[in-house]
Amino acid sequence: TLSNVCGEIEFRNVSFSYEEDSQTIRDVSFSASQGEMIALVGPTGAGKSTIINLISRFYDAESGSIWIDGQEIKKVTRESLRKAMAFVLQDSYLFEGTIRENIRFGRLDASDEAVIEAAKTANAHSFIMKLPNQYDTILKQDGGGISQGQKQLLSIARAVLADPVILILDEATSSIDTITELQIQEALGRLMKGRTSFVVAHRLNTIRRADQILVLSEGRIIERGKHEEL
Ligand code: ATP
Ligand code: MG
Repeated sequence: TLSNVCGEIEFRNVSFSYEEDSQTIRDVSFSASQGEMIALVGPTGAGKSTIINLISRFYDAESGSIWIDGQEIKKVTRESLRKAMAFVLQDSYLFEGTIRENIRFGRLDASDEAVIEAAKTANAHSFIMKLPNQYDTILKQDGGGISQGQKQLLSIARAVLADPVILILDEATSSIDTITELQIQEALGRLMKGRTSFVVAHRLNTIRRADQILVLSEGRIIERGKHEEL
């Protein structure tokens, strides 16, 4: 188990394959300090999501090692890892249920006030208040009935409520209107503050803000640094 996680992550010469004949991640090493934002960039199939899968122990590395707060991740239960992490993914998992329930999924014991507070931090409160049943509005499966950008704001609200030490973000590639995009950027800024964040980044704005950019190609890190340096 993990206690008082501070969110340092280190990859040491990590390699991984989904299938025997092709190596997906090749000798990847990096370290992320507490509170840093790491942007993962590179073409489709480069291995960005796979790195995220390894950090969350969805899969285990084949060789090399991954460390969290100086503990080898293999020895940490998936459950305690999940508790330390929150995910804001491209196809954010929203379920059939009310908006309130969908946000509360981040922390089932949260009060109604805490849910609203999280929605405000995530810039989701104002659009929610304009819906016919506000927080009691029922979302259809996969969040049908609200826009792509609004789904993102809801999943940010959920992550704010979960209050994780480590944040995993797969930025949307779909086009979102400018105003919602600004709201998302602002909400993400608030959410990421003080947390170690791994962002599969598509937006130049996000990449500019990163403490480290890891450029992946065919499973290797081919360049790294800050935006000004690359
Ligand atoms: P994208 O920008 O398209 O999301 P990515 O950088 O996230 O790409 P990954 O999803 O990490 O890329 O995929 C890296 C490689 O691993 C690709 O060749 C992909 O086809 C393969 N791959 C991904 N997931 C699996 C899986 N579950 N089983 C087998 N191969 C997979
Ligand atoms: Mg991916």
